[in-house]
Formats: sequence, structure tokens, C-alpha cells
Amino acid sequence: MMRPYILAETNWYTIKNESFKLAILPWGATEAHNYHLPYSTDNIESDLIAAESAKLAWENGAKIIVLPTIPFGVNTGQRDIYLDININPSTQFAILSDIIDGLNHQKIYKLLIFNSHGGNDFKPIVRELGLKYPKMFICVCNWYQALDKKQYFDNQGDHADEMETSLMLYVRPDLVLPRETWGEGREKTNKVKSFSEGWLWVERKWTQVTDDTGIGNPHLSSPEKGKRYFNDLTEKISQLIFELCDTDIDNMYK
Ligand SMILES: [Zn+2]
Repeated sequence: MMRPYILAETNWYTIKNESFKLAILPWGATEAHNYHLPYSTDNIESDLIAAESAKLAWENGAKIIVLPTIPFGVNTGQRDIYLDININPSTQFAILSDIIDGLNHQKIYKLLIFNSHGGNDFKPIVRELGLKYPKMFICVCNWYQALDKKQYFDNQGDHADEMETSLMLYVRPDLVLPRETWGEGREKTNKVKSFSEGWLWVERKWTQVTDDTGIGNPHLSSPEKGKRYFNDLTEKISQLIFELCDTDIDNMYK
């Protein structure tokens, strides 16, 4: 069944007289995820989470359209991992600039960038494009920060961890390799202590920080954990989408 809120599936016949209030742009990455998850993990996640959240919001009357997922992200720290595909922040700026120019012209003034990948940093880009397109309301959601992961998972991490493995076991178990292939996802810590205190930052060199490309132990993952997280997450994000759709962007503060 064609879903009218997914641009890749709908058609001009259906939408030529529509007036969508909010566009949602899922953005992922193409990169190794420990030994056992597919390179498209971030894309599959943002695709499915955005679509399910949009479905719930649409059923409540939100006029939204989900754009096709951008499959490449910023992977500058993973140059040495075979076939991790990097696009630079300046390329990301150019892509976003063209999409926003189009939305602005079409009078769809609200955009939610739906981010799946930690290396994608949209804040400086949004600041600059916000100046250029003052009518546009552009916001960014890192969906993986929407819920307290500690309430759902025993082992924490940020790449191919228990959360991502559980999610994939729930939504695409056919693409997850058997447990005996799973690496431990151990993150090595920087010898300079201040980095781990969170106030000093350097890009992590992926081949040095982990042996299996994973960060976070996946071994307690299960499809049941993935299902519970997916359901609560899409419910929360659907409420956000509904609220953003409804909100008056000229009168946002109380
Ligand atoms: Zn990921």
C-alpha cells in the first residue's frame, strides 16, 4: 500500500493539491557496524523510525512529508575502514542548501532533519542556512538521544551497540549475522584524561579506538528489547512531529 506521507512512494496525482506543513529529511551514513550489522544500519534505522513516527502523526492529521533518506554521512574519522563512505561537511552543506532552497520556494517552511549518525553535525549548517532563508524553520533531531537508553539496555555505547543491535534484530533480523560473529565493541580510552571528561574533544580515529569498529558491547541484545525501544521511540517522535506541524513558528516562546 502506497503511503501518502512518504515522498518516495506517493505521486503527483495524489499530492499536487496538498499543502504539507513539515518536511522530514532522514539522514544516515554508510559505514561498518561491528562485524555483524549491515553498512546501511543508520539508513535503515532513520528510514523505519521516521516512517513509523510519520504514520502515527499522519493518522492524527499532521500534514507531513518524509523525504528520501540521504545515505552518506560525515565519516572523516573512518578513512581506513574499508568502504566507509565519507561526505565532507561542506558537501552536506551544499546538499542541505539545495533542498532548503526548494522547500522555501514550495512554501514548505518547516524542516526536521532526522539524524541517525553521530558524525553528522548539522548545527553550524543550520545556523548559516537559517540566516539565508529567514522564513524557514529548520530543526535537527538526533533520534538516538530521544529516550534514556539506560531504561532499555544493559550495556551502553554509541556505535553498533546493544541498542542498535537490538533494533536491527527487531526490524531487519535477516541482515544481522549470527552471534558468534559479534565483536565485543570495546572502546579504548584516550591517554589524555580530559578527553573522557567531556570538555575536550578530538575526532576519534576509528581504527585506533576499536578493534571491531563497534563501540558498545552488543552481547545482551535481543529483538524484544529492540521492539520495546522502537515502539516507545516512534510514539515519542510522532508526538514531536505533530507538535512541530501545529506550532506557530512566529510565536514559539512563552
Ligand atoms: Zn549506527
